[in-house]
Amino acid sequence: MATFAIREESLVMENPAHNTRHSSSGNCNDARHTTPTTRNANRPPMIIKTAKYLISSPDYTKCPKPDRPEYAFIGRSNVGKSSLINMIANNHKLAKTSATPGKTQLINHFLVENTDGDSWYLVDLPGYGFAKVSQSQRKQWMKMIEDYLRKRENLVNVFVLIDSRLSPQKIDLEFVNQLGEWQVPFSLVFTKADKETQKEVSRNVKAFLDTMRKTWQFLPQHFVTSAVKKLGRKQILEAISDMNKEQSE
Ligand code: GDP
Repeated sequence: MATFAIREESLVMENPAHNTRHSSSGNCNDARHTTPTTRNANRPPMIIKTAKYLISSPDYTKCPKPDRPEYAFIGRSNVGKSSLINMIANNHKLAKTSATPGKTQLINHFLVENTDGDSWYLVDLPGYGFAKVSQSQRKQWMKMIEDYLRKRENLVNVFVLIDSRLSPQKIDLEFVNQLGEWQVPFSLVFTKADKETQKEVSRNVKAFLDTMRKTWQFLPQHFVTSAVKKLGRKQILEAISDMNKEQSE
């Protein structure tokens, strides 16, 4: 079995077959969870001025010019992705919640502008795990996602959403392992934390990380969120702000 690692400078397998464009993105270490003081502790918090929908693209070649840092969100259908994106953007209408499963097979770009003048792209990727899609649709999805994740040059980090109510799911573990093979930096976002007791959420988060630990040398940064309680928004924005800063240095 392959052993994955997230080194200080990049997310790689122990015997990487490829050396991808992500090699300079140092944003996937677990430092925020092991050391409470972060590098940019004195920086003011990111405040979003506007977030607007830009375009939906059938593949990465049709996406907007890669002229600013980009952060993509992905997860199983119904994991709470639209709700999380709306929470982050502070706009309950931005991403459509509960769109017909499997219908939105497009790469959706949103432009986010901060009050400090910085801007970034937020990308809503079509989710995986629909029961009702055909084999050919699944293949098409895989090709589109792989091309986007591996070739989109301004992609800084992928936020992989995991339902905090569930024990580790094979489909999520397979997806993060695939990201490892592709050397795509990512963080984990555990969603719907208000739906279970804190104890149950912690148990599921720990179980997921413990499972990853069996094949990964280091663990990615992770967040526990609730769109209902607006939990985790500040931490995700802080992480994006840190990564934006790293990109501009
Ligand atoms: P998507 O398919 O991944 O975009 O998921 P949605 O954002 O449409 O959410 C799916 C369902 O879960 C909807 O009924 C949401 O209202 C609900 N939901 C999403 N996030 C949360 C959350 O943080 N807490 C609770 N209680 N429900 C949520």
